[in-house]
Amino acid sequence: MMEARKYVEQIQKNLEAKDPNQEEFLQAVEEFLPTVIPFLEEHPEYVEKNILGMIIEPERMIQFRVPWQDDEGNWQVNRGYRVQFNSAIGPYKGGLRFHPSVNLSILKFLGFEQIFKNSLTGLPIGGGKGGSDFDPKGKSDSEVMRYCQSFMTELSKHIGPNLDVPAGDIGVGGREIGYLFGQYKRLREYDMGVLTGKPLGFNGSLARTEATGYGAVYFVKHLLNDRQDSFEGKKVLVSGSGNVAIYAIEKAQELGATAITCSDSNGYIYDKDGIDVELLKDIKEVRRARLTEYAKERPTAEYHEGSVWELETAADIALPCATQNEIDDKKAEILVKNGVKIVAEGANMPSTNGAVKLYHKNGVLYGPGKAANAGGVAVSALEMSQNSQRLAWTKEEVDSKLDDIMKNIYETCRDTAEKYAEKDNFAAGANIAGFAKVAAAMLAQGTV
Ligand code: GLU
Repeated sequence: MMEARKYVEQIQKNLEAKDPNQEEFLQAVEEFLPTVIPFLEEHPEYVEKNILGMIIEPERMIQFRVPWQDDEGNWQVNRGYRVQFNSAIGPYKGGLRFHPSVNLSILKFLGFEQIFKNSLTGLPIGGGKGGSDFDPKGKSDSEVMRYCQSFMTELSKHIGPNLDVPAGDIGVGGREIGYLFGQYKRLREYDMGVLTGKPLGFNGSLARTEATGYGAVYFVKHLLNDRQDSFEGKKVLVSGSGNVAIYAIEKAQELGATAITCSDSNGYIYDKDGIDVELLKDIKEVRRARLTEYAKERPTAEYHEGSVWELETAADIALPCATQNEIDDKKAEILVKNGVKIVAEGANMPSTNGAVKLYHKNGVLYGPGKAANAGGVAVSALEMSQNSQRLAWTKEEVDSKLDDIMKNIYETCRDTAEKYAEKDNFAAGANIAGFAKVAAAMLAQGTV
């Protein structure tokens, strides 16, 4: 039988030959594959049954046309997608992203990571992802509504509470989920379990909006506790200004840290006294405005154009909560120079593979997205539980379950890293632990 290392190299090579243009997907697979070699060496049956060859192929991908009419009466058309990646441990589960950059490569990378992230939560959810190259920015409320209705007209044929349960991601929040849900209901039936991240008024879960950001901070909290340390007095750099960033800032500050930055696609805020979360929420959630507004209204804050990761200032923790590949080698070097000791990813794959290598080389503790940002999808799974029970849990109940889940994820990453890789290599720990459960299920179900 083939040696595990050779097998892994061959899988990567074949994939590069088949999908040479799927840059982000190739990157995610390239990060993942080498880390599972020690596990494969212990489980030759997975090499024999070509489990990696299976797991990198989505079970199903759907691409569809989304026609819609803008406010001026022009007919527009966008692309819609759903990647149903893996259903070994539950129905496909993962968000919908509406952003002009969306393409199959991005959705496949997101769907691939979602498999292992969802497995790490310990809850019964498989991996999927979807979305569209539609840009909700600058669109009127009615345009967004018509778009969501058209998108769901096709998507409704492919999803269901026991089949595939979408939620939000970049560009898809409570408003969009509301419109999507309304259209699903019109076409199929009232089934609250078909989407998560629903508004609270119709069976959404308390703490779901906060969950990804809070979860990332809980991950770091448990990592710090493990070292008899805490957030108290720490300086935190945050990127992004969506719900992940906002609630990461809120929770970090609640635990005694000062979050000094946030960003959008044009620039960033540096507020050395700590971000005013209420003002940030008002600007982003209520006014849906740009961050330049924040600087206008807060005299202590500076607004700069460019990437927040080019800011040179002393800090302890970095929480990238914007988007993929926001931190490359050069920016990772700046983080190291800034004195950052912990990077935990609220976004999906915000660090390039080169940046991750630099973290490890410099002893920066690194919590990869598939572990650190799993709190969002975990609370989505708790929303599914509540919907099945026809019950709503209190915010405290959901939040304390989230904290427990993040503790468990941190400890699983830590212990799995120690067993199979190096101490504190949480990326390897996350990949192996997430993979082990899915691989065993695939084998037992005869799907390999
Ligand atoms: N989009 C989120 C993620 O990347 C959440 C998905 C969900 O709640 O299903 O995990």
